[in-house]
Amino acid sequence: MIHLSTIPVEDKTVITPDWKELLSQSKLSTQDLLKLVRLEKHPLASESAEKLFELRVPKPYLDKIEKGKADDPLLLQILPQLAEHTNTAGFTNDPLEEEKYSPVKGVIHKYENRVLLIASSTCVINCRYCFRRNFPYSEHTQSKSDWQEALDYIRKNDSITEVILSGGDPLIHSNNYLFWLLGEIDQLTHVKRIRIHSRLIVSLPQRIDAEFIKALGEINKPIIIVMHCNHPNELGDELALATQQLSDLNVTLLNQSVLLRSINDQAEILKQLSEGLFEIGVLPYYLFILDKVTGTAHFEISISEAKKIHQALQASLPGYLVPRLTIEVPGQESKTSISHNTNQIINL
Ligand SMILES: *Cc1c(COP(=O)(O)O)cnc(C)c1O
Ligand code: SF4
Repeated sequence: MIHLSTIPVEDKTVITPDWKELLSQSKLSTQDLLKLVRLEKHPLASESAEKLFELRVPKPYLDKIEKGKADDPLLLQILPQLAEHTNTAGFTNDPLEEEKYSPVKGVIHKYENRVLLIASSTCVINCRYCFRRNFPYSEHTQSKSDWQEALDYIRKNDSITEVILSGGDPLIHSNNYLFWLLGEIDQLTHVKRIRIHSRLIVSLPQRIDAEFIKALGEINKPIIIVMHCNHPNELGDELALATQQLSDLNVTLLNQSVLLRSINDQAEILKQLSEGLFEIGVLPYYLFILDKVTGTAHFEISISEAKKIHQALQASLPGYLVPRLTIEVPGQESKTSISHNTNQIINL
């Protein structure tokens, strides 16, 4: 393996095409997608599912899909499917009851000491299993002046020690807008840390451009980036270059995944993911049970299956490379950990 620090600096610019151009090309039709991945047709595909949730995928992610392979694990995360029209008992539009926890526009305050900001209304990749696929984003879209209410809310609550930028994907914004917001948060004295939740860094690593790195270096508070990668095939050289530059700035890099049927529901795949993440300086954080949002039941892995997969994963990795198997239960004061071996060993 070539160590990144041995790559000459000039090479960095070569593999950094303009991310905005890549971003603007991310809207596709199912037909276009199938052509690009060289499949004449797909047994699960449905053009009408595009109307439920638009098809969006940036080119760098598309490039990682194996051509001519209908069950490619990256393809299955973005392909509009017939199964999305199915209504399944227990699956709803707002399974996390997020609307209840929004004290002011753009803010979700569920857990003590930390707030989540809906810092963007869109994503550059639309993951079909997304728990926010039906989220009323338009009610949360923010201009700079709209953020004053949210910033005041944080300012007045000195128990808030961490601000999380989520979305949508916060990195979809221009550096100008993003660093304006980060700069405002950086000035709130009781906030100790700033966290960014982003899948864009994985699906479009070119987003981490020189300007971003320079501006991030000027933020005073510690930064945590939680990326979202589900399968080892999503990793690659561009992402490694991005994480290397972030590590150089002492950014803490974590990853969260969602356990998805036919995509990463095997301990061996998750093991490769953890190993691959470690190689690029990222530690696994959460492995989520799917949120029960309408139209996603075909991705579901039951808790008992999940426990078995996680147990096998734990047996094959050092503890620090095992993500926490976690479920979000509305009304709880934190995410809920699922443990699989306590009952067997200790008589509870
Ligand atoms: C998941 C989540 C967080 C972060 O939880 P951690 O356990 O700290 O990662 C914060 N706020 C909301 C609303 C969340 O959904
Ligand atoms: S990147 Fe995250 S928020 Fe955006 S569609 Fe995918 S899962 Fe949903």
